[in-house]
Amino acid sequence: MTEGMIIVTKLEDLFYTRTLLDGPVGLVPTMGYLHAGHISLVRQAKIECKSVIATIFVNPTQFGPHEDLASYPRNLENDLRLLEQAGVNIVWTPATEDMYPPDFQTWVEVENLTSLLEGSMRPGHFRGVTTIVSKLFNATRPDKSYFGQKDAQQAAVIRQMTRDLSYPIDIVICRTQREADGLAMSSRNAYLTTDQRKAADILYRALLAAQTAFDDGEKNAETLRQIVKDVLATEHQAQLQYVSCADYDTLKELDTLSGKALLSLAVFIGKTRLIDNFILG
Ligand code: AMP
Repeated sequence: MTEGMIIVTKLEDLFYTRTLLDGPVGLVPTMGYLHAGHISLVRQAKIECKSVIATIFVNPTQFGPHEDLASYPRNLENDLRLLEQAGVNIVWTPATEDMYPPDFQTWVEVENLTSLLEGSMRPGHFRGVTTIVSKLFNATRPDKSYFGQKDAQQAAVIRQMTRDLSYPIDIVICRTQREADGLAMSSRNAYLTTDQRKAADILYRALLAAQTAFDDGEKNAETLRQIVKDVLATEHQAQLQYVSCADYDTLKELDTLSGKALLSLAVFIGKTRLIDNFILG
């Protein structure tokens, strides 16, 4: 592979430059407006792989009709600078019309796992995610692909899809990168006003309170959910959408914690919807 980062848009250019890469090849799919969370995935890929492909694509099919597709933050120039600094070999920035030509009619859908949590709040979201990730896998043919624990259900759904469709790809889940006050890094944090940004650490504080109770021996799932609700209720700018304490693998709600559990929540701060989670056990 030649020195420097190659930026490609067209599928045929991606196919050609892909042939130049030494393996193993790592893939880091993103929607851009990159922050240190995204870059931590690239770093992990650099450690484990000879070559790294990053993709930047704001995938329209994973946004609901009333969601923020049109306003989703973008800054391609800065993204490319960060990816180059991080040592990415190829950046693929596909065009929407190439990913979804007018006669597009083939979808990838994971069933049970996607009916819960984020899937129940955002109908069609995961069908969009699995379809685009599947297309990215097919086009880039990675040995490993990197996703963030921040989107815990997405990670579970991608793992399921990879198994079910027999993709020969290792799915690596990287820990959530946080701001100094604990707020999980997210491109959507850019929507927050200064005041809302100050309030937004309540998600982390609520999860931390439940984690502390769990560490002190609390194993009742409803009690842990209630602790999260009680902390969130102290911040008037926070509107809880859901809090879940579920089995880590099946995402089914628990009564009592025994194995690994996922404590997750979705909260509106003003019009901005934030999600976060901790793994318990
Ligand atoms: P996105 O651009 O939001 O689609 O995110 C691209 C990838 O980065 C996904 O696998 C996310 O889970 C991951 N990611 C987003 N935020 C973080 C974070 N704060 N820490 C670690 N990974 C993250």
